[in-house]
Parts: sequence; C-alpha cells; structure tokens
Amino acid sequence: MRTRNHLPNPARALALATFLIALAALASGQSGAPASSCDNCPEWNRPQQPFRVYGNTYYVGPHGLTSILLTSQAGHVLIDGALPESVPQVVANIRALGFRVEDVKLIVNSHVHFDHGGGIAELQRLSGARVAASPWSAEVLTKTGVGKGHPQFGGLVPLALVPRADTLRDGQTLRVGDIKLTAHFTPGHTPGGTSWTWKSCEGGRCLSLVYSDSMTPVSAEGFRFSDSREYPDAVRDFEKSFAFLRAAPCDILLTSHPDASGLWQRLEGRQRGDRPDPVVAPNACKELAGRAAEQVRRRLESEKGR
Ligand SMILES: [Zn+2]
Repeated sequence: MRTRNHLPNPARALALATFLIALAALASGQSGAPASSCDNCPEWNRPQQPFRVYGNTYYVGPHGLTSILLTSQAGHVLIDGALPESVPQVVANIRALGFRVEDVKLIVNSHVHFDHGGGIAELQRLSGARVAASPWSAEVLTKTGVGKGHPQFGGLVPLALVPRADTLRDGQTLRVGDIKLTAHFTPGHTPGGTSWTWKSCEGGRCLSLVYSDSMTPVSAEGFRFSDSREYPDAVRDFEKSFAFLRAAPCDILLTSHPDASGLWQRLEGRQRGDRPDPVVAPNACKELAGRAAEQVRRRLESEKGR
C-alpha cells in the first residue's frame, strides 16, 4: 500500500525530476533571474585559508568575499556571511582557527545582497546567534529577501530569510563580551548599507579597524543615480558614506570585497616580512573614499544626456 502506486518508471521519474528542479529554482528565487546573476560566484567562493588580521579579528570568508570573526571569551561576532554556498567554508574556517560557530552570538552585515548576506540565514541557524541590521536591511533579511527600489533591484537573487533581526540606529554600539562594535550607516550602494568600527589589541597595542561596506554605484539596467524616483537620495547618501570614510579612525581597513582594499597584496607583504606591517595602512580609508567618489562622479557624468 505504501509503494505500489509509486513504482518508478522513466517518464514519471523524468517528470518528477523536472518538477523538483523547477521547485528548487522557485524556492531559491532563481526563476526569472538572469543566468548571469552570479557569473562571479565560483571565483568569489574560491577557498581561502583563514588568518588573524589583528588581535581578536580574523578573516574567515572565501577568497573573494569577506567574512570577519571577532572573538571574545564570552562569544563571537560575525560580520557578513558571503554566499549561501560559502557557509561550509566559513564554518570550517572558524573551526580551523580553534573557535566554534556555536559560540557566535551576533551576526551583522555590510549590505543585504546575496554575495554578503546570502549565507546569514544558514549561519544564524547553525549558531543560534542574534542578527542585527539597519532598518532597511532588517526588512530585507526578515521579509522580502530583496530590497525594492534600490539600484540593483531586478537583477538580484533574493536572500534566504532569517526569522528575526533587531534593527540598529546609526552610531549604535553593540557588545558581545569585551567586543564593542559600532554601526555606521553608509548608504548608496544600497539604502541600508552599514560599515563597522571596533578596536583590536595585540600585546597592549590597540588599533582602530574599519569594515567598509561596498561604495560602488552599481545598478540594474535603466537605473539612474542622478535622478532616481525610487531612490532620490542616492547621491547624497554616497556623500555621507564617503564623509564617514574620510573621518573614521582607521589603522586597518577591511572591505566587503577584499580586493577593494588590496587585502591580498597587503597580506603577501606581511607574509614576506615587510615592515611596517602592510596590513596596517592608516591612509587606506581616505584613499578608498577618494576612489569611490571618483567612481560616482564618473557614473553621474555618464548619465548626463541619457
Ligand atoms: Zn552589493
């Protein structure tokens, strides 16, 4: 009675397989998404050996997408979860450093695109951590999976949702053990973008670290930063974010895409034994602000007469 009507035959198996593939595509939100929605994903997700950035700050992401672990005796903080398919790497990297994902008490993010927020739901499930985000990003993380009316709307894979996320205020400091992590709203790339600052110490030498959100004016086809009706504050938002980068105490800059701050060249220099340690680069935040402002200027220029 259990199996008589369910004997496989090739046609039924094929129909079932087709149905399951369609269902999986729907469930992951990829139906209708362009095939190019992540041409870069395999490259971004290349494995990376985790390493100590400074003090209690560690890099635990894959090679192309940053995920940062801050550790304390009373539990850890994770900044960004990379892609859904990055989660096994992030977990293995945390373990390789001698920590446990179960001890992650707080997960925060830079911005809720699938390449930085895609792994958060699964990492939250594995850790039981609290998730906290800017109001715009919390709405995406818990309700919609993709933010409406922002520059890349229409071209993105939605995120897997988290059951709940606390909403943050600009400038709010979060604590886990002796970790004090401050949220700075840096919108523009998305309206909910958030950068993070904290201090890490090694043998009494404490440095100011900055985790900068993406500052790039990337958009779906047809979006205009200069006069968008959906996101009229886009340019003003970018300017606010650049002002943050110019002013922030910044001994070590980390960015949501490690290439944006030349992390791998700096790490190579450190491993060669270059002195002073090239990972410590107090001008890096100002230089990033300069490059990003120039990108936005060029983008606005290109929108003229279109
Ligand atoms: Zn993005």
